[in-house]
Amino acid sequence: MAKASKAAKFVYQFGKKKADGDGSMKALLGGKGANLAEMTRIGLPVPPGFTITTEVCTYYYDHKQTYPKELQKQMEAGVANMEKILGKKFGDLNKPLLVAVRSGARDSMPGMMDTILNLGLNDQTVLALVKVSKNERFAWDCYRRFIQMYGDVVMGVQKRPGEDHEPFETVIEGLKEELFAGQPHVEDTRIDAEGLKELVKRFKALVKERTGKEFPNNPWDQLRGAVGAVFGSWMNDRAMVYRRKYNIPQEWGTAVNVQAMVFGNTGDNSGSGVAFTRDPASGEKVFYGEFLINAQGEDVVAGVRTPEPVAKLNKVMPKAYAELERIRKVLESHFKDMQDFEFTIEEGTVFMLQTRNGKRTGLAAVRIAVEMVKEKLIGWEQAVMKVPAEQLDQVLAPVFDRTAIRSAKVIARGLPAGPGAATGRIYFNAERAVEAAESGEKVLLVRVETSPEDLRGMIAAEGILTARGGVSSHAALVARQMGKVCVCGASALQVDYHAKTLKVSGETFNEGDYLSIDGTAGEVYAGEVKTAASEIIQVLVERSLKAKDSRTFQNYDQLMKWCSQATRLQVRTNADTPEQTANAVAFGASGIGLCRTEHMFFEGNRIDAMREMILAEKKDERQAALAKLLPFQREDFIGMFTELKGLPATIRFLDPPLHEFLPHDHAAQAQLANELNVSVDKVSKRVHDLHEFNPMLGHRGCRLGIVYPEISEMQARAVFEAAAEVQKRGIKVKPEIMIPLVGFPKELQLQIDIVHRVASEVSKEKKTKISYLVGTMIEIPRAALIADDIAKDAEFFSFGTNDLTQTTLGMSRDDSGSFLGRYQELEIVKQNPFASIDQTGVGRLMQMASELGRKTRPDIKLGICGEHGGEPASVKFCHRIGLNYVSCSPFRVPIARLAAAQAAIEETAAKKKKK
Ligand code: PEP
Ligand code: MG
Repeated sequence: MAKASKAAKFVYQFGKKKADGDGSMKALLGGKGANLAEMTRIGLPVPPGFTITTEVCTYYYDHKQTYPKELQKQMEAGVANMEKILGKKFGDLNKPLLVAVRSGARDSMPGMMDTILNLGLNDQTVLALVKVSKNERFAWDCYRRFIQMYGDVVMGVQKRPGEDHEPFETVIEGLKEELFAGQPHVEDTRIDAEGLKELVKRFKALVKERTGKEFPNNPWDQLRGAVGAVFGSWMNDRAMVYRRKYNIPQEWGTAVNVQAMVFGNTGDNSGSGVAFTRDPASGEKVFYGEFLINAQGEDVVAGVRTPEPVAKLNKVMPKAYAELERIRKVLESHFKDMQDFEFTIEEGTVFMLQTRNGKRTGLAAVRIAVEMVKEKLIGWEQAVMKVPAEQLDQVLAPVFDRTAIRSAKVIARGLPAGPGAATGRIYFNAERAVEAAESGEKVLLVRVETSPEDLRGMIAAEGILTARGGVSSHAALVARQMGKVCVCGASALQVDYHAKTLKVSGETFNEGDYLSIDGTAGEVYAGEVKTAASEIIQVLVERSLKAKDSRTFQNYDQLMKWCSQATRLQVRTNADTPEQTANAVAFGASGIGLCRTEHMFFEGNRIDAMREMILAEKKDERQAALAKLLPFQREDFIGMFTELKGLPATIRFLDPPLHEFLPHDHAAQAQLANELNVSVDKVSKRVHDLHEFNPMLGHRGCRLGIVYPEISEMQARAVFEAAAEVQKRGIKVKPEIMIPLVGFPKELQLQIDIVHRVASEVSKEKKTKISYLVGTMIEIPRAALIADDIAKDAEFFSFGTNDLTQTTLGMSRDDSGSFLGRYQELEIVKQNPFASIDQTGVGRLMQMASELGRKTRPDIKLGICGEHGGEPASVKFCHRIGLNYVSCSPFRVPIARLAAAQAAIEETAAKKKKK
């Protein structure tokens, strides 16, 4: 926590090639503040200003929303520095200094207060601005924008529930109707100075009416209000939703940037834009972005006017364009990453307002990382670090099915803002979209334009479609980051919020109707269009596309090769069928880490034999039923061993409680009785007998094999007979038999005895030697606590973190959804512990068990096969505690491989730093 000591520095100045801070100080100055300082230092044209540190935000919340007493003085010094550099004065009646106030957390955060421009204007200074600029319209336009933004974000004049339009926009529309009666789509730029003066009057009246307060006239009151609004927005609902989604800790706080205004709205020789040094959707190395002539930055981002592509600037302002091209190169070679930057052109001169590492799609992330290595801008290890592991999900995301799309009809085109293909029922507001998604529908959120209030709806939707806004509009930025499919600025769409209809190319769609969108091409289709796998899946899994024909695949493949080069932690897969095994191997899995054998019993008519086994009253009846299951199981193992081509396979013996295999309703029980030729009473009695209050803590796991050893015997036989068969075909086989839910050494010993006995029987029968391991899952705390004892018999441990989490936390893995959301909101748990390992609790048990296991058996193999094995933060944790492998579902293998490689690179970097 920041202490309000005399020496404390709360304000960092920048301007005229000098800055108190630099790019490394993101924790203290926020991302925006740190990079403004850095750009100033490297000589880029940045208007002067200062940054109020994140420590002030922390202080503010720790001290009942008050500020350290030194702050005012330090802000005054910051303003004085700007005044000196620019020869203007804050509140001056001749040459007024106007400032922009922006929030700036460590990472940019949609949902927080964004920007207030033109602060310092009032009824007097606006007249000075008229004089200085010799442009009455411009000055009044600045003033009305200031009131609008300040009124909205500081004074809270916002849309009320049920209103579809911002109140200030409604006032503008009203005035336009009076001034330009009968003319549709009148641009704001057609309102003249007199009109703007009228608007200022009406805006002030609106503020008074809605808040009961006058709009503040004193610039210092305005500044203090704006700073308070930034800090206040750190705790607003939208910011909290965003932080939860991206695991941003509350204690980070936000900084505030106060910067001298430059004007993009002085006329046709000025403008504002947002640009990327490469295409953030595809990753292609092109200057990408958009600008608006005679506009302030907010107009571009808010998506109210649809901007022009930045390449066009070359025609209208060639000098400014050349300067921007120069800046683009400087930025990439200095920051070594794709940059997303904001600029303003004031009377032909370019100013930089912000730069940051650009948000990008997974597709672009991979391409940019790989190409930057080729360009020798970065090394391959940096490339691996640059691709967020979760984002690989997007690279594997579906596209439209090639045949289905041929017969689909394009009804509108917009900008390709978030790649992939999505289809769903359309909803016009966020709440209804969330409701529909919660009831299981696939949803497309359709809006005229999105704002941070739509965040929940955007999270719930498969895709987002807007009628207005460019590729850097709110909808586009947020969608890209979330990996949502998004088409924006599809201007042919006529959305009627009131009637809940969408009219386009002569057709009307009602809320709930299907549409489909292609966020890679920017196309909108009527109806539901089937989706198909990504190019990587087409190459690796479906084999319908050749590697050489897909750049996307080649980039992905290069990245994965680098991952293999870096990694220590192996990535296996959880697979129960030959097909899943083949997929996982194609994704680079180094074996099977968990084969849940019970899944094999649900297929076809195998369930009948399984049920027969469960209903059997005597051992010989049970054995007879098991004998029917043996060939099925053996065939599956043969298929998997064949696909593995010598890679190891951890096969777990039967785990779930037996009642899961029996029908629970009367009709199905009657049918089963009929099929097995037994009485219905017998079936329902057995179901009744098997009923347990806590089945997850009941007769399951190794407890089944202890009570019914013949089950384990059959399973061991299936494994070894399959192994012998596949070995005979010249393919190496490495089975690793895993006993579930062990808590006592004796449980494991009894099961191991069976496995060894059957192995030697099969070896003799088949006249072949089979090498195998026997180990256990560590999935209940007792096993972790006595892991040294258990390791005397176990040749490997695999952490079953699904059960280990539920038994350690005493929270049901199936039923905790009802309260976990609230727990996350209150930050009792930072993340869902069933998704990301609870590192301090469950993780500590894992670490302890690993150490104990290694004490007894130094070469013990350690792995994890709970769902956490495919979640990047958990994978990195597993690397740090020295596991040999993680195991996850086939489609998450690439993600886990990337996370594992990143963990290894991070570790090497940390060691180097220590030295
Ligand atoms: C586990 O508990 O983590 C595990 C992998 O086993 P299952 O999910 O099958 O209980
Ligand atoms: Mg388990």
